[in-house]
Amino acid sequence: MFNIEVKCPFCEVTGGLMSTHAHMAEAHLGLVITQHDPEADRMTYSIACPYCEHIASSQVKPRNRNPRFLQEYKAEIAMVAFDQILYHVLGEHPADVGIDPAVLGLDSDSDHGKDE
Ligand SMILES: [Zn+2]
Ligand SMILES: [Zn+2]
Repeated sequence: MFNIEVKCPFCEVTGGLMSTHAHMAEAHLGLVITQHDPEADRMTYSIACPYCEHIASSQVKPRNRNPRFLQEYKAEIAMVAFDQILYHVLGEHPADVGIDPAVLGLDSDSDHGKDE
């Protein structure tokens, strides 16, 4: 992954990509909304982008029919959800989390000019 510093989209904490991701899962767990639709027997999670209307959501595949699945696996679900929202934020709102878009490799010519 990128060796970059990224600000948490939900607060002012800044750190490496991995540590910010871990921070989000720990500090902002409550922002991940999980829902269980008993009729369709479907579980979904969703998390809203703090910078736009985008909502990252996906279906959760439970490993069993444990009705407490969502509580027990909330941390795992949150890791995936924050992964998604972080990817979205890096792609759509890099400046808001202190990222120069060029660092993400969007400037494809930046690798040239380094001769050995
Ligand atoms: Zn935070
Ligand atoms: Zn967004």
